[in-house]
Amino acid sequence: MLKTFIASACAGCVIATGAVAQEFPSKNVTLMMPYAAGGPGDTITRVVGNGMSKVLGRQFLVENTAGAGGTIGTAKVAAAPPDGHSLLVMHFGHAANTALYPNLRYDAIKDFEPIGMIAESPMAFVARKDFPARDFKEFIASLKSGKDKVTLGHAGIGSASQLCSLLFLSAIDTMVTTIPYKGTAPALNDLLGSQFDFMCDQTLNVLQPVKADMIKAYATTTKTRIAAAPDLPTAAEAGLPGFEITVWFGIYAPKDTPKPVIDKLSTALQEALKDPDVKSRFAASGAETVATERATPEALRAHLKSEIDRWVPIIKKAGVQAE
Ligand code: ASP
Repeated sequence: MLKTFIASACAGCVIATGAVAQEFPSKNVTLMMPYAAGGPGDTITRVVGNGMSKVLGRQFLVENTAGAGGTIGTAKVAAAPPDGHSLLVMHFGHAANTALYPNLRYDAIKDFEPIGMIAESPMAFVARKDFPARDFKEFIASLKSGKDKVTLGHAGIGSASQLCSLLFLSAIDTMVTTIPYKGTAPALNDLLGSQFDFMCDQTLNVLQPVKADMIKAYATTTKTRIAAAPDLPTAAEAGLPGFEITVWFGIYAPKDTPKPVIDKLSTALQEALKDPDVKSRFAASGAETVATERATPEALRAHLKSEIDRWVPIIKKAGVQAE
C-alpha cells in the first residue's frame, strides 16, 4: 500500500516537474546581484539578464542586496523558492567566502544548483588622479614607504577588489589602511573625489574613468595585456612577476530547483552568451563571455569546487576572517 502510494506520488512528481519546465518561466525572473547597483557585478548581471530575457521571453529583473562580501544576498537566494524564478549571479567570492565567513547561513555547494559560468573579467590597479606615483614600480614603492597612511577602498571582505588587494599586499609584503564599501560603484565615486588612494577593481568598472583621465591606472592583473586597454602594462610585466587574478562569474539557482528548469536556464544562458550585443558589451570593458561548454551546470560545479580548493589555503595563510 505504502509502496503503491510512493510510486504514484513519484509519477506525479515527474509529470509535475515536466509541466513546471514547460511553463517556465511563468513570471519575471529575479537575478540577485549581491553588490551595489552600478558596479561591475551589476553590469554583468544586467547584460546577461537582458540576453536571457530575449531567449525566454520574460523580464530578468536585477535585485541588489549588498553587504558582507555578497553573503547577505547569496543567503537570500539559498532560502528562495526553488522554482527557477530567483537566481544568484556571483563571482569567485562565492568560493572564497566559504573560508572567510565562519557563520555562513548556507553551504556554497550543497544549497545551490549551478546553471553555468558567465564571463571572466580582468582587474586593474587604479588610483586617485593626483596620486603621485608615475608607474607601477613607483606605486608599489609609495605603498611600502607610506604604509598605513595610504588608503585602499574595496567592496568588503570576500569581494573581488578585496581578494585582489589581499594577494597584492601579501606579494609586496605591506599593509595599508582599508575602507570597505558595499560595492565598487560607491567606492569608485569616492575615488573620483580623491577620498582614498587606490583600489584593484574590475576593468568593467574603471576603464571608462581611466580613459576619461578621471583616475589613474597602473597595471592590469591579467597574464597578457587586454585588448580594451593595450597601453596598460600587466602587473607581471611592470614589476610583480607571476601576479595574476581574473574574476569569474557564475549563475546559480536554489537547491532542489527541478533539473528541466536548470537545463532550460542553462540553454538560455548559452544562447545569451552568443548574442553579439552581450559579447560586445563585455568586450568593450575587457571582459569576455565564456565558451558554451563552460556555461553549463557541470562546468560551473567543477570550477566552483576547484576554486574553493584554491582559495581556502590562500585565505587561511593570510589569516583573514570576517565576523
Ligand atoms: N563585484 C563587486 C561590485 O560589483 C565588486 C567586487 O567584488 O570587488 O561592486
